Amino acid sequence: MIDNSLVVLNSLSGEKEAFKPINPGYVGMYVCGPTVYSNVHLGNCRTFISFDLIYRYLKHLGYKVRYVRNITDAGHLENDEDTGEDRIAKKARIEKIEPMEVVQYYTVDFHQILEKFNTLPPGIEPTATGHIIEQIELIKEILKAGYAYEINGSVYFDVLKYNETNHYGKLSGRKIEELIHNTRTLEGQSDKKNPQDFALWKKAEPQHIMRWPSPWSDGFPGWHLECTAMSTKYLGASFDIHGGGMDLKFPHHECEIAQAQAIHQHPPVKYWLHANMLTLNGKKMAKSTGNNILPLDIFTGKNDFFKKPYSPQVVRFFMLQAHYTSILDISEDALEASEKGYMRLIEGVKQLATITPGNEAGGFDTEMWLKKCYAAMDDDFNSPLLIAQLFDAVKYINQVVHKGIPISSAQWDCLNTMLASFIHDVLGIAPEVKSSSEAEDKLSKTIGLLIALRNKARANKDFATSDQIRDQLLSYGIQLNDGKEGTQFTIK
Ligand code: AMP
Ligand code: ZN
Repeated sequence: MIDNSLVVLNSLSGEKEAFKPINPGYVGMYVCGPTVYSNVHLGNCRTFISFDLIYRYLKHLGYKVRYVRNITDAGHLENDEDTGEDRIAKKARIEKIEPMEVVQYYTVDFHQILEKFNTLPPGIEPTATGHIIEQIELIKEILKAGYAYEINGSVYFDVLKYNETNHYGKLSGRKIEELIHNTRTLEGQSDKKNPQDFALWKKAEPQHIMRWPSPWSDGFPGWHLECTAMSTKYLGASFDIHGGGMDLKFPHHECEIAQAQAIHQHPPVKYWLHANMLTLNGKKMAKSTGNNILPLDIFTGKNDFFKKPYSPQVVRFFMLQAHYTSILDISEDALEASEKGYMRLIEGVKQLATITPGNEAGGFDTEMWLKKCYAAMDDDFNSPLLIAQLFDAVKYINQVVHKGIPISSAQWDCLNTMLASFIHDVLGIAPEVKSSSEAEDKLSKTIGLLIALRNKARANKDFATSDQIRDQLLSYGIQLNDGKEGTQFTIK
């Protein structure tokens, strides 16, 4: 199946490049995971869904993928400039619980939410605290290579020294002169030689509880180091794909490159892929600004932004209707359109199952269609283009059902196999709407039964009964909408 047609947008070159893994047939992929100090918001989920799509498609093509996605459970300070409290320690202090209770709680939350979105778990999910020894070893190597210095029990990466023979800013496009000009150090807050240097190890203040012994001090590793330690350990000093959200390009990924290059004298990653941001009211969804929405609040409909609930599958479908490198703004209109599209797609597959194909072929070129589907995904995982192709197939299915256009067995077989494959395996859209709670699930099944009874009554011309069902449901705030694809309902 692997036919080398895949091209990916490599953030390092800014170009679409032919995807050729280091070891043919095998892919090593590392994606930066969450810092588990709060509930994941929908923006975080978009990035993880984007890489789930990429993982699924690589597997679909036949690659053996080792997918590593870490959990950041130490070392991520409040500010990118290595200042402020550790995010997890701060939460533990406020909640008066152990840091590891914070970590456990939000890791479980993260897994539960991603499962609702039908994302596949990574093959390895390493934690920063589980790799302190590896991080200390890396620091020793960077020190030995001459790209770091120790000062008062902390160790910093020497960016200027590194930049003498390497290019710091290669990934993010930042210019070292601008960084020097723009980075400020608050008096007394840091003992770095230069403000653009970054921490590899920080000596812990007496009140800092997340601390480990090291040759330099009792302290903790810098945030960027964990990803270098864990990606190198599980994928090697050179691996194929490194992913994360666009906002991680600088400083996080730039620093990862510098750390690995300093030790190995070669770049660690062949293809850097970056997922773009989910925005709400035109602004980036972010924990820090409060401009965010939690997945559960969207599934239950209990939020200030949207009038009704949307299921995880609809939200996933909404996200996949945009290319992963484009900014995506979430709105009620967009979600409603996605809900309709999602239903149309699922309904189309159901309709296909009811068709008995014949000998005569209809005017739908399934071979060409299949080529276009693969061409879409081969073009840097273009899910919106794939979805447009899937809708074309559904249009044809509806014509077969409603207009009696012929379909041959070969056409039927192709659509039957490949629609399921693209929708479920590649896009990861689950067959049915998974509702957010068992009660909601039961409610939608009950309404489904009432719709079926109403259809039966209408078929028997028992309009008194069919009207009673419709009106009574409406009085409970449940509106039935009759359309070409059958009866849908909305809860007001
Ligand atoms: P964090 O837990 O803050 O490290 O974020 C986890 C992942 O979510 C990172 O890859 C971020 O780049 C990503 N992320 C954060 N905010 C957004 C957003 N609004 N849209 C898409 N991805 C995001
Ligand atoms: Zn990372």
